[in-house]
Amino acid sequence: MNLDDQQLRIEGIYRQNERGEYMQRVKLPGGILSVVQAKALAELGVLYGSGTLHLTTRGSIEFHGLKGGDLPAIHRGLAAVGLFSRGACGGAVRGISCSSSFGPGFGRTQVLLRHFLKHFSGNPHFEGLPKKFKIAFEAGYEKSRHLIQDLALVLVEEDGENSRYDVWLAGGLGREPQAGFLYADRIPESELLPLAESVIEVYREWGEKGRRLKTLFNTLGEYELRKRIAERLKSKEPARFIDGFAKQLLPDRRGLQLPLNVFAGELSVQSFDQLITLAVEQGCDWLLVTPDQDLELLVAQSSEAFEQALRALGFTPNYQGSALRICPGNHECRMGLCTTRDLAQRLVDEFGERLNGRSLAISGCRNSCAQPQLAEIGIIASKLKREGETRVALYDLYRREGDGLGEAVASGLTEEELLAQVGDFIV
Ligand code: SF4
Repeated sequence: MNLDDQQLRIEGIYRQNERGEYMQRVKLPGGILSVVQAKALAELGVLYGSGTLHLTTRGSIEFHGLKGGDLPAIHRGLAAVGLFSRGACGGAVRGISCSSSFGPGFGRTQVLLRHFLKHFSGNPHFEGLPKKFKIAFEAGYEKSRHLIQDLALVLVEEDGENSRYDVWLAGGLGREPQAGFLYADRIPESELLPLAESVIEVYREWGEKGRRLKTLFNTLGEYELRKRIAERLKSKEPARFIDGFAKQLLPDRRGLQLPLNVFAGELSVQSFDQLITLAVEQGCDWLLVTPDQDLELLVAQSSEAFEQALRALGFTPNYQGSALRICPGNHECRMGLCTTRDLAQRLVDEFGERLNGRSLAISGCRNSCAQPQLAEIGIIASKLKREGETRVALYDLYRREGDGLGEAVASGLTEEELLAQVGDFIV
């Protein structure tokens, strides 16, 4: 099969390594998938993948280690259960994330989020963008993920189709982290789609190739960016998605939310398959991939026997709300400067329960894929130092204490120095 790496990106596929293996990312609306879809993903992972599924910090799922010839079969397998990957990589509107879990307001945001995802995915008017365009719907400000999106829509007043949202623009991390700014507050739902289209059209027309919306914001300034968006908006009418009936997949707070740790977002397909079987027996029909690379089940009720069975499969209930985000680092990513999972394991071994209830993120390079600036403690492998015949990573350490992005508090640390400083923070 003759495959063009550039053309594959729009299908959510990257070439992963020199062995010619591929990564396939799958868009999950707000991280939600049904147990039927979860079973299908596990089955595709067994048939074609490397034995694990990778959970991303945008609530998507990735297959790694794929053969090029298997890509069409995976596409068919995804389509059979209503899943797709169009625009999951490349210059397109990426998977739309939501970090609000199954909490209040989640039901309303996920209805609108699904409409947006369908509208922008595979729509030629919104592909061919200078770079990725990230949208998030949030049911509140708790997790602060509105700060790092090209476009974030935060529910501030829930009233069915008359709900209102704050709109944030031009945030992003990467090598030049920048918090988004509040573009407008309390915008009615009917005005969100024309606004989103206008922002993306402005980005598509004036954005610099290879740069995010935040760069256009920095180049034009807030006043000029607002002016150009307003110009576009003049030609658009308010647009409401009319539903024939209430389309919430799950009522707010039905049953028990059961968060489960998945170390480094690496999920064995066998364990995942067994987990779904167990969860179905417990009355679960939907589950979440969270932006902390974990899973969350919505079960009718839990029990000691159920939790023991989960632990036997390697899933620990995360009642303390800990978050440990870890990018693949040089285990799998060509940009990685360190073995992120080994470092994370060392931190867990060293500090154990002292990490409970805390958020920690490790990125294998300055691209910040693990969102270290949004964690209480963020770690970035920032450069390599020669030591005899080998090269070892040095680290920058970030702390987040206010409402904005975390700030670097130390740089160029060796692994030992890093561990000592993390230990001082979490005494
Ligand atoms: S942060 Fe760097 S090493 Fe980690 S996944 Fe992103 S690009 Fe790769």
